[in-house]
Amino acid sequence: MRKFLLQGLIRRPLTEPAPRVSGSALEELGHAVQHLLFRRLGRSLSIRMIDAGSCNGCEMEINALGNPFYDLERFGLKFVASPRHADVLMVTGPVTKNMREALKRTYDATPEPKWVVAVGDCARDGGCFVGSYAIVGGVAAVVPVDLHIPGCPPNPTTLLQGLLALLERSGTNKGTI
Ligand code: SF4
Repeated sequence: MRKFLLQGLIRRPLTEPAPRVSGSALEELGHAVQHLLFRRLGRSLSIRMIDAGSCNGCEMEINALGNPFYDLERFGLKFVASPRHADVLMVTGPVTKNMREALKRTYDATPEPKWVVAVGDCARDGGCFVGSYAIVGGVAAVVPVDLHIPGCPPNPTTLLQGLLALLERSGTNKGTI
């Protein structure tokens, strides 16, 4: 026991160092999102998260968007608890058979016009879960997808870049993506 306590004091933590992210690049990206957002919608963008069967790696990166470093809300982006209040459905994971109906109902409950963003490699086509008896495939197998953000998992900066691409592709009417 004493040996482990000593090792704990001497050894470095086993966790990987956090990736370096430039604060000024993040600010620039966030302000680009904010600028487009207010030009297109004239208000904040509400995002509803749906885990359709992911390993939770993608959720951890999405959650990081709300931490004090990324602080997504300062750029006019916020997560909401109900699809009825959402502009964007952000879906992670391969869609499992158990979640197919829930995803479909969540999509139906979201008011038009709406965008669907598939996050992570699994959300594109099932990723590393392809061939599993438990999945129906990527998000597009169940609901129409407007944008896919690749990565396993995509980091918070990539997610923000994806949302910027979504806004850039939208016309003055967000239903035209
Ligand atoms: S893309 Fe990677 S991190 Fe995201 S759900 Fe799939 S395996 Fe997990």
